[in-house]
Amino acid sequence: MTTPRTCTQMHLPPDLRAKADMLSVKENPANSHQIATGGIILRRGDALTLAPPVGLKWLNSRVLRVKILGGTDKIKTKVRQYAAVWTEHANITFDFVESGDAEIRVNIDSSGASWSYMGTDNLCVPQTQPTMNLGWLTDASSEAEFSSVIIHQFGHVLGCIHEHQSPTGGISWNKEIVYAHYAATVGWSQEDVDRNVFQVYSSTTTQYSEFDATSIMRFPIAPSLTTNGFSVEWNTQLSEMDQAFIVRAYPRGEEHFYVASFNTMEVRAWDKPAMNANKQILFPTTYGCPPQVAVGLNWLDVSKDANIRVTAFADNISASSADVHINTWSDTTLYSAGCTLFPVPPGDLDFQVGQFSTQEDHPWQNPQLKTTRRFAFAREYASPPNVVVFLNQLDMAKGKNWRVTTTATDVTTTGFTLHIDTWADTVLYSATAAWIAYPLAWSAARTTRRTSGRGTSRSSPTVDAFLSRTARSSEPRRSLLRSTPWILTPPATCG
Ligand SMILES: [Zn+2]
Repeated sequence: MTTPRTCTQMHLPPDLRAKADMLSVKENPANSHQIATGGIILRRGDALTLAPPVGLKWLNSRVLRVKILGGTDKIKTKVRQYAAVWTEHANITFDFVESGDAEIRVNIDSSGASWSYMGTDNLCVPQTQPTMNLGWLTDASSEAEFSSVIIHQFGHVLGCIHEHQSPTGGISWNKEIVYAHYAATVGWSQEDVDRNVFQVYSSTTTQYSEFDATSIMRFPIAPSLTTNGFSVEWNTQLSEMDQAFIVRAYPRGEEHFYVASFNTMEVRAWDKPAMNANKQILFPTTYGCPPQVAVGLNWLDVSKDANIRVTAFADNISASSADVHINTWSDTTLYSAGCTLFPVPPGDLDFQVGQFSTQEDHPWQNPQLKTTRRFAFAREYASPPNVVVFLNQLDMAKGKNWRVTTTATDVTTTGFTLHIDTWADTVLYSATAAWIAYPLAWSAARTTRRTSGRGTSRSSPTVDAFLSRTARSSEPRRSLLRSTPWILTPPATCG
């Protein structure tokens, strides 16, 4: 029997995950708050257990060195030709090198196995090992065979995962054949196959309605891997959704309003928790005087064995820089946390920012379910502005579910009402929310979460943050909070 022509999304061993996450955040800080980057690259199609929470996206406009190991001149030419299909759309450059180090190392052989590591995970593979294998290409291969597998594997290089399958009733896997295939080609145990193939591709999850059957990243399934002859063919070119997706992931010439970010994984791995973390942020320009800086949490990974305690703030703010801190205190174990910082240029007439702590309303020893405060803008707006609110400090009791939401309501030209609420039996000792108001003329590029239906809209300018102890039952040790960060882009009329 010939080796079934399928693809393996390679994953790093668990003991390298913390190091890989650190390399990923160092490569591209946006990997620690994927929602802000206009898409969640690893969540396209959601590979469930395969997808780590940290993103795998390269820094935009990155030059990736690619070294081809083995293969004939014709195959090497085809690799260059079809890798370039992506870079017609993505703001990424593949620089093919003959020697020396390379981020991407493509092995050509006749093993029958094709696989690749994904995105920045490639950085964690030792230089002595390939990061990709093309296992069945020969000089006699058809053009469709070249294009299908090469474009697909370079999609993995850019961080794309397999397009999620939603087969009615699941796939009738021929499990013995599948186990044997992955053991022989990539050395996976039965447990690896269970987790990375059967759990992922037998899923009947229907929450993803945008399944793209024409995607180059569709998971190819050879008929010999199933008991009823079910198969999924390789696609041979980028679909329209593939093109739109990768343009959004690696855009050209997109200008954002300046925001900075900090994640503790930039200075320590999440398996080395510490009380304090900080770094200096350099502003893109030296302002005439120190700016106001709004800070909001965009990432939180904390042990449930103690109270939830985290605070993110900036100090030592000068005209050219600020120090950003993310701290915890007492017996809390903070694995990682991240925040977004928005410096309002001095003299800017559009943006107004501020923040509010429940401790300005009542002491932490007397927790309440609801806290509200009416704010008056220092400058009146011509029409009611957008108001974005963001938590930057939390202190919540262990032993109860963690529930907190912050919202802005009753927005008028002169002010708004800020709410910091919890509900049921949660004990919220204190919380602090930052707020940013800006005219409706500005567009806010924000991504709402498809899975929960929560998010923001212009008519209801609120940002909710929600944290539940039971949210990730597969990892009871840790919980994860994501709120919706902001990226503000000028309106098209301003170029
Ligand atoms: Zn693949």
